[in-house]
Amino acid sequence: MRKLAVAAAAALLLASTSAAAQSLEAGAAQVRDGALNDLTAWTVLESLTTEVGPRLVGSPAMDRAREWGVDTLKRLGFENVHVEGFTTPAWSRGAESAEVLGPVPHALHILGLGNSSPTPKGGLEAEIALFPTYQALLDAPEGSLKGKIAVVTQKMTRTQDGSGYGAINAQRTSGPAEAAKRGAIAYLTRSLSTDDTRLPHAGGARAGGIPAAALSTPDAELLDHLVARGKPVVVRLSMASKLNPKAQAYNVVGEIRGSERPDEVIVVGGHLDSWDPGTGAIDDAAGVAIQTAAAKLAAGQRPKRTIRVVMFGSEEQGGSSGAYLAAHKDETGKMVAAGESDGGAGRIWSINLPTGSAAHPAMKAFAASVAPLKAIVTRSPPREGGADISGLIAAGVPFVDFNQDMSRYFDLHHSADDTLDKVDPAELAQNVAVWASFIFTVANSDIDFRALAKDPAK
Ligand SMILES: [Zn+2]
Repeated sequence: MRKLAVAAAAALLLASTSAAAQSLEAGAAQVRDGALNDLTAWTVLESLTTEVGPRLVGSPAMDRAREWGVDTLKRLGFENVHVEGFTTPAWSRGAESAEVLGPVPHALHILGLGNSSPTPKGGLEAEIALFPTYQALLDAPEGSLKGKIAVVTQKMTRTQDGSGYGAINAQRTSGPAEAAKRGAIAYLTRSLSTDDTRLPHAGGARAGGIPAAALSTPDAELLDHLVARGKPVVVRLSMASKLNPKAQAYNVVGEIRGSERPDEVIVVGGHLDSWDPGTGAIDDAAGVAIQTAAAKLAAGQRPKRTIRVVMFGSEEQGGSSGAYLAAHKDETGKMVAAGESDGGAGRIWSINLPTGSAAHPAMKAFAASVAPLKAIVTRSPPREGGADISGLIAAGVPFVDFNQDMSRYFDLHHSADDTLDKVDPAELAQNVAVWASFIFTVANSDIDFRALAKDPAK
């Protein structure tokens, strides 16, 4: 009798567990379908790029972006909408120009790099020392570039996962400091770009104490051709810029509070700031739009756990990740999972879930719901998560990597071509559908990623 009762209770529990899993899967599918036909993300993206425009940290546009973020979250029905202020160094661009003086005069299209020093008033003129690879610059002995403008023209490889960028990133971020160490008075790098337009691509760099700029890819190749002729190539460079060591910056936050376990929080976000040449549509108004829309759509009826959206205020020049962690370090233990969208608006093609979680009913429901979107759940653990949640990750918060198709991203990234028209609304909606389904399944289950990482059978 007793045995029978236990068996019956176990069967009942199993039935209710699988009923819960089934309803989670049905709910996730419903959220997915709703997202595919929803215009919230597009409306948010269009609004931010049109009404605010480029959003360099420390600029008046960033103040407008803060107001825009608060208004947008409130209008969409988020709760506890607020601004978390912090200070961070902020570089801003002034007038810039460059030209080849000889052996043949040519205009050069450049964009100064973040943290670049200005040239002396009236500019500087010097012979260039050209390196076809970044390693060749590193191999140059100290002092060997005295009085020269160092130029690195290594090309970037186009890849679906964006790894071509990581492979060559130091050419921009560390190049100025390495050139300065070897005596150079200025530094030029071929843009980290996969495009062939004459638009240069901006980006951040470590301060090297010298003027530093990115060349458009055709202009980098022009210098290759001029140098190949064997005569000294002389370049004139004029750059102005300002550095505010303590600019005011903001993370803008909104929540949908959980009904059962409100102190358990899922944190998702993108970054509100951008570089200045375009309108920051793919980097990262798209991410802000995707996560804002996904959180709202996932919430539907009130979720069991709290869903929080963070519009991070200084990713490009750094600071928002550290500021967010500092403000929430006592709360990280209650953060169920963190995710960031900062790869443009290309469709999500692969998903890395937190270690050991793929067999949990909630994640099986999630995987089933996104399979029709051609988003595959891989067996690999997540690798990076995103710059703005790197602080949370370091503090032990479980995180996910949703890998977007980045084949075209670096044609546009940090250039004047980063504009709204480059976003495909259907691909944007696919991103929202994947994120919304994930947020929904986590917010309405009791999945514990920390426990699963230790014991996947939990
Ligand atoms: Zn970004």
